[in-house]
Amino acid sequence: MDARRGGGRAIEGGADRVENRALPSRSYRRYEGVMNSEDRYDVVIVGGGPGGLSAALALGRGRKRVLLCDSGPRRNAAATHIHNFVTRDGTPPEEFRALGREQLAQYPNVVVRSARVAGITGTRGSFDVALEGGSVQARRVLLCTGMIDELPDIPGFREMWGHTIFQCPYCHGWEIRDLRFGYFVRAFEPHHFKLFALLLRGWTRDVVVFTNGFADVPEAARESLRDAGIRLETQPVTGLTGQGKKLETVRLADGSAVPCDALFLHPAQQQVELVRGLGVALDDDGFVRVDPMTRETSRPGVYAAGDLATRMQGAILAAAAATQAATVINMELTSELVTSGER
Ligand SMILES: Cc1cc2nc3c(=O)[nH]c(=O)nc-3n(C[C@H](O)[C@H](O)[C@H](O)COP(=O)(O)OP(=O)(O)OC[C@H]3O[C@@H](n4cnc5c(N)ncnc54)[C@H](O)[C@@H]3O)c2cc1C
Repeated sequence: MDARRGGGRAIEGGADRVENRALPSRSYRRYEGVMNSEDRYDVVIVGGGPGGLSAALALGRGRKRVLLCDSGPRRNAAATHIHNFVTRDGTPPEEFRALGREQLAQYPNVVVRSARVAGITGTRGSFDVALEGGSVQARRVLLCTGMIDELPDIPGFREMWGHTIFQCPYCHGWEIRDLRFGYFVRAFEPHHFKLFALLLRGWTRDVVVFTNGFADVPEAARESLRDAGIRLETQPVTGLTGQGKKLETVRLADGSAVPCDALFLHPAQQQVELVRGLGVALDDDGFVRVDPMTRETSRPGVYAAGDLATRMQGAILAAAAATQAATVINMELTSELVTSGER
């Protein structure tokens, strides 16, 4: 019976639609994608966001045996829609992931599990990947674990994040064009701060920059903001007011309240626990260092793609980077397999 037509036994338990798809029980044949429990995966992908799903698709189509594990909070969980991803503009994040999993279900050599990866040991070609309820072996590991956002400890921020507080105007600016924008400067960096403030003017004439207590703004930057008609508020921000998830004003330490419909912020971020524990090299901003071509980390055989490796964060960017990693991994593995007689 053909696995693609749904015959055989289910290999994973639980309610997950993809996990429950059936695979045949006959003996292992690499290019049918049939797995026995003692078999090694070619690649374990950690993280099932746009990055991980895209990599699984490319590796699946490359006829590799892939396990994708996804569990835990998602960065864009608060957002109602994904924008700026062609063919998926306006798609709810949950629907995006469900579609990804549905398409992967057509590849019997790709297994998707809603499981957390607790640790990774071993070396290139022979990794031991610890999951809840057991461990699996893999020749390569691709990390697509995203980042954890750390929002400022200011009343109102958490509730409004993803609804009227955003990180990216390309993702959400169109829907709120011509409204009153604020830009909450978390860490003052003269060049980026000015460029980002000016960028926001592309979506509205009404922009206020909140430096949250940082008053030493260079005169050249002040002048650019004035030229662009952008107001500068250097008082500390003490809170936000609004109706539920809808922002209305930004409150300042001097007691004033600035009307504001949407606030932009680049939150501090940190790596997930798994990545922090792996000991892969990070850059000065805390992103995983990768080779720009192969996307291999400082740990041979472990690759990284998506938000965890760059400040340039977006769903389609994560998908593209992970596809790049997948094609490199597939090329390496194919060379190894065809020259070792396994294929
Ligand atoms: C509020 C908000 C709105 C956004 N809106 C947009 C938008 O409209 N358009 C756009 O292009 N971008 C948007 N983004 C950015 C976009 O969400 C990210 O760039 C994108 O999701 C990154 O994809 P990724 O695959 O790298 O990581 P993620 O999508 O974050 O996925 C990583 C996954 O890995 C899982 N994971 C982590 N550790 C483990 C582990 N140990 N074991 C198993 N699984 C693990 C996580 O739980 C998560 O599910 C938004 C971001 C935010 C915060």
